[in-house]
Amino acid sequence: MDISVVIPLYNEAESLPELTAWIKRVMDDNRFSYEIILIDDGSTDGSWMIIEGLKAKNPKITAVKFRRNYGKSAALNVGFTVAQGDVVITMDADLQDSPDEIPELYRRITQEDFDLVSGWKQKRHDPPSKTVPTKLFNSVTRSMSGIHNLHDFNCGLKAYKKDVVKSIEVYGEMHRYIPVIAKWAGFSRIGEQVVLHYPRKYGKTKFGPGRFVKGFLDLLSIFFVGKFGKRPMHFFGTMGVLSFLAGFIIAAWLIVEKLISISNHTSYRNATDQPLFFFALIAIIIGTQLFLTGFIAELISRNGSERNSYQIEKVI
Ligand code: UDP
Ligand code: MG
Repeated sequence: MDISVVIPLYNEAESLPELTAWIKRVMDDNRFSYEIILIDDGSTDGSWMIIEGLKAKNPKITAVKFRRNYGKSAALNVGFTVAQGDVVITMDADLQDSPDEIPELYRRITQEDFDLVSGWKQKRHDPPSKTVPTKLFNSVTRSMSGIHNLHDFNCGLKAYKKDVVKSIEVYGEMHRYIPVIAKWAGFSRIGEQVVLHYPRKYGKTKFGPGRFVKGFLDLLSIFFVGKFGKRPMHFFGTMGVLSFLAGFIIAAWLIVEKLISISNHTSYRNATDQPLFFFALIAIIIGTQLFLTGFIAELISRNGSERNSYQIEKVI
């Protein structure tokens, strides 16, 4: 099969008939063999009934229904497990992304050999309350992840080689960072394509302003887990040792200084009269705690089932 289109949806009943018909038209025009995978993320607006109707008419539709709302990442993850196509395309269900982009995305994956091609909504039809923070979000993500050629990490419209979606796991709210996750998994050919973006036709957005806070925290976890997930002691140990040493040297210095003053019979201050002494104490305590955290993290990661899972590309 050429293409799997994975579509997470949450209360998008009005959009679905139009969306699936449009995808079918594009696929038939280009003679692609395809499947449409709809993941109903616990909709309560009758989306599932619509999907059952659509499935009856088009057997190329596969649909999965969650019993409750788990979030876009969970829906994508299940879609990725189900997908069979050589190229996997993800898109939003709200008709903001255009299925007309699919043939070009497919061509770039199959002919230009990209692992992942991400859409770029260069001309966005969203309110400024969304587009302005998004700019900031994208530039932070760019510099932290080292993927400098992407402008729009969170675009719903993306294309992947099958290998990529079968090797990554998306959970929590990490759908915003799939290119970063793919990069950590060793897929480095990541490209971008300018795509059309429409205003939302039906329904309303499913993400509030909280998205930016959660998004940033997720970025920190992805970055941390990707870099130190298999060796937490390197992070906590380094910080712990530095902090402990700083505290220890300062404390030792204060004490030595005092002893010298005593032996010279000059005036001196008690260690407890000096702010620096308390700073040193805190640094020693924090250093020890970081060190212990490192040990515990190390014990946990050693027991984790993931401890020896690596991305193996080829064996001959
Ligand atoms: N979505 C989902 N589960 C959720 C929230 C959203 O499957 O809990 C889907 C939603 O139905 C849509 C896509 O994710 O197909 C993007 O959501 P939305 O259009 O609300 O996001 P925005 O365009 O505002 O970033
Ligand atoms: Mg949308």
